[in-house]
Amino acid sequence: SNEDLDSVALPSPSVSASSSEHRWGDTTSYAVKKKLQFWFLLPNGNWELGKILSTSGAESVIALPNDKVLKVKTETLVPANPDILDGVDDLMQLSYLNEPSVLYNLQYRYNQDMIYTKAGPVLVAVNPFKKVPLYGDEYIEAYKRKTIESPHVYAITDTAIREMIRDEVNQSIIISGESGAGKTETAKIAMQYLAYLGGGSGIEYEILKTNPILEAFGNAKTLRNDNSSRFGKLIEIHFSETGKISGAKIQTFLLEKSRVVQCTEGERSYHIFYQLCAGASPALRKTLNLKSASEYKYLSQSDCYSIAGVNDAEQFCVVMEALDVVHIGKEDQHSVFAMLAAVLWLGNVSFIVIDNEDHVEPVEDEGLFNVANLIGCDVEELKKALSTRKMKVGNDNIVQKLKHSQAIDTRDALAKSIYACLFEWLVEQINKSLAVGKRRTGRAISILDIYGFESFDRNSFEQFCINYANERLQQHFNRHLFKLEQEEYIQDGIDWAKVEFEDNQDCLTLFEKKPLGLLSLLDEESTFPNGTDLTFANKLKQHLNSNSSFKGERDKAFTVSHYAGEVTYDTTGFLEKNRDLLHLDSIQLLSSCSCHLPQIFASNMLAQSEKPVVGPLYKSGGADSQKLSVATKFKGQLFQLMQRLESTTPHFIRCVKPNNLQSPRLYEQGLVLQQLRCCGVLEVVRISRSGFPTRMSHQKFARRYGFLLLENVASQDPLSVSVAILHQFNILPEMYQVGYTKLFFRTGQIGVLEDTRNRT
Ligand code: ATP
Ligand code: MG
Repeated sequence: SNEDLDSVALPSPSVSASSSEHRWGDTTSYAVKKKLQFWFLLPNGNWELGKILSTSGAESVIALPNDKVLKVKTETLVPANPDILDGVDDLMQLSYLNEPSVLYNLQYRYNQDMIYTKAGPVLVAVNPFKKVPLYGDEYIEAYKRKTIESPHVYAITDTAIREMIRDEVNQSIIISGESGAGKTETAKIAMQYLAYLGGGSGIEYEILKTNPILEAFGNAKTLRNDNSSRFGKLIEIHFSETGKISGAKIQTFLLEKSRVVQCTEGERSYHIFYQLCAGASPALRKTLNLKSASEYKYLSQSDCYSIAGVNDAEQFCVVMEALDVVHIGKEDQHSVFAMLAAVLWLGNVSFIVIDNEDHVEPVEDEGLFNVANLIGCDVEELKKALSTRKMKVGNDNIVQKLKHSQAIDTRDALAKSIYACLFEWLVEQINKSLAVGKRRTGRAISILDIYGFESFDRNSFEQFCINYANERLQQHFNRHLFKLEQEEYIQDGIDWAKVEFEDNQDCLTLFEKKPLGLLSLLDEESTFPNGTDLTFANKLKQHLNSNSSFKGERDKAFTVSHYAGEVTYDTTGFLEKNRDLLHLDSIQLLSSCSCHLPQIFASNMLAQSEKPVVGPLYKSGGADSQKLSVATKFKGQLFQLMQRLESTTPHFIRCVKPNNLQSPRLYEQGLVLQQLRCCGVLEVVRISRSGFPTRMSHQKFARRYGFLLLENVASQDPLSVSVAILHQFNILPEMYQVGYTKLFFRTGQIGVLEDTRNRT
C-alpha cells in the first residue's frame, strides 16, 4: 500500500552527481539488493541516512531514522558505509567514497573534537572555533615519539622534518581554505612544532614573534573573520646540519591596501591602528598628537572599533615587545608609529573648493599640520602635492589643479602607499633579523598561508588575482597527487593508462596566454590613457568568447570557469586597481621629507619603477613614473613561488569552516561540502575514485576472504587464492587490477566481499 507513504519531490541529485559517475550501477544494484544503508538528500539540502525497505522499478521505499517512510527515485540514493567505518581517521578507508559519506565522517569526528582527518595524503582541518585540548608540549612530545597516531598538524609537520632530513630535500606545508577556516592558526601550530623540535639557538623565539607583528599590521576584522589576514605569506624556516633552526625568511603577497582608506560597515582597518590609539603611552600620544580611534575618519567610517574578547591596548604591548625581539630599535619603532599616525591624520585632511572654480585646496587644519609634522615635510609642499599635478605637455611643464575627487584620490593613494611601504619595510627588517645565509641547504621547511578561492555575490579585481593564484596552486596540488598515485601504480606494475585525470590547464591558459589572455588584455587596456573598465570588458568578450573557460556577461562583467566553480567578475575598478598609480608628485614629496622612513619609501618606489621591465608599461598623463601593473607583479611573484614550491616535497593542509558564525559545535553540511569541493578534497577523492582506490596485499586478501572459497584451489599461494576468490565472486575484470604485491579495486568492490564475510 503506497498510499500512506510520503512521496516527496526530490531536488535533482546534483550534489551526488560525482558519486554516481563511476561504475555506480554495479555497487548500487548490489546494495539495493542487499537493502543496505543509503544516503538520501532531503529537500533542505542535508543528507539523511535511510534503509531500503523495498524496490520496484526505478523507485525505492526507504525508512528514515525517525521512522518516516519515503518513496524515492532509486538512482538518487547514495550508498552509505557500514557503521564500523564511522569516524575513520583517513577518508580513504571508506568503502564508499561519496560526498555524503565524506561529510558524515568529518562531522562524526568533529562532534568529538577530532578536528583533523586525513584524505589520503591531505590533512583536513575543521575549525573548532573553541579551544580544543590537542596542543602543547605534551602533545608535541607524543607526536615526536609517535605514541599518538591520529591525524594532526603536528604529525604532518613531523613528516616534513623527517623527509627533509632523510632526503635532504626542502619541504613545504601548503595551507589553504577560505577566510576564517583556520589557515593562520594552523600555520602557527606547525611553527610551534618546528620551534619545539628545532629549537635551541634562540632564533625560534624570534620566528614565533613575527606572528603578532604581521597580524597587527596585516590582519583586520572582517565580516567573515575577526582576525582575517589581508595578505598571503610564505615563511621559509631553515635548519642546520644538526637539525636546529638557523634562520628564516618571510615573503608576503598582495596586501589589501584599499582597507587603509576604505572599509565596509562592521569591519575594521588593520589592527595596529586601533592598538596604537588604545595602547600608546602618554608620551607617545603627545609626540604623535594621537587621538582616540573614533576621531579618525579612516577608522570611523565603518563604525566598528572593537573586537569581542580582544584588548587592543594589551595587544599593543605584545606587538612592541615582539618588535624588540626581532631587533627593531626603539627609534625605528617610533618612526613606525609616526607613519601610522600620519596615515590616520591624512584621512582627516579635507578640501575646500576655491571660489567658483572646480579645483580645490586642502584645509589648513590640525590634520594637515600633523601630517606635515609627522612625515617631516613642508606644509606648503604637502598642500601642493595634494592639490596639484605636474604634467608634461609637449615640451612644456605645466601644473594642473586638481578637482575635488582627484584630490581625494591623491590623498588616499598617498595614505595607501605609505602603509604598504611600511608593511614591506617591516618585513624587510624582520628578514634582516632572521637572516639566513645565501647557501641553499636542502634543509628548509616553508609554510604557505595564502587566501583560498573566493566567490562572492560581487567579485572584483582582488578575487580575480586570488582565484588566479588558487588555480596555480590547484595545478600544483593535482600534479603532485597524480604523481604520487602514478608512482604507486607503476611500482606495482599496474596499467596506468586506465586512470584518467583532469587538469585545470585550460583555465590557466585563459589567464596567462599572450597576447590574448585575461592578464595580457588587462595590462594592455591599463596602458591606454583612454582605456576604461568597459572597453576592457568589451575587449575580453571580443577576443576570448571562443574559450571554453570564459563567458562574457551583460554590462561590464565576465565569468570564468574555475576548477572550484564559476565566478562572475565585475570589471568596475579593474583598471585603476591594476594601474595602482601614485603620482610622481607624491613620491617627490616623500623623498623631500626629513624623516628617514618616507625617504626610504620614496626611493623604494622609484627603484621599483626603474626595474627592467618584464611586463607591459603604462604611462598616464606623462609625468607619472612607469611601473609594473599590479597583476603583472603578482603573476611574477606567483611564478617565483611556484618555482620554489616545485623544488620542495609538498604537504597539504585544507582548512574547513563548519559555519559562517564563527561559533563552536555548529556543522553546516552544505557549507562544508562547498569548501571540500573548492579546496580540492573531493578532488583527491575523485582522483582516487577514477583509479583503483582500494588496495590490499595478496596475503591480506587471501587471509581475509580465503575461507569463503567453495572449491579448493590447487595452489595455496596468496595470489592464486586471491584470483580464485575474485572469480568465485564474479568481480568483473575491469573492476580490479592485479599488481605485483597488491590487488587494486575500484570503489565499493570490497563491500560485496565484506558483506558475505560478515554473514558467514
Ligand atoms: P583568513 O583567510 O581570513 O586569514 P584564516 O583561514 O587564516 O582566515 P584563522 O584566522 O586562522 O583563519 O582562524 C579564524 C579563527 O578560528 C581564529 O581566530 C580562531 O578563533 C579560530 N580557530 C582556527 N583554528 C583553530 C584551532 N585549531 N583551534 C581553536 N580555534 C581555532
Ligand atoms: Mg589568516
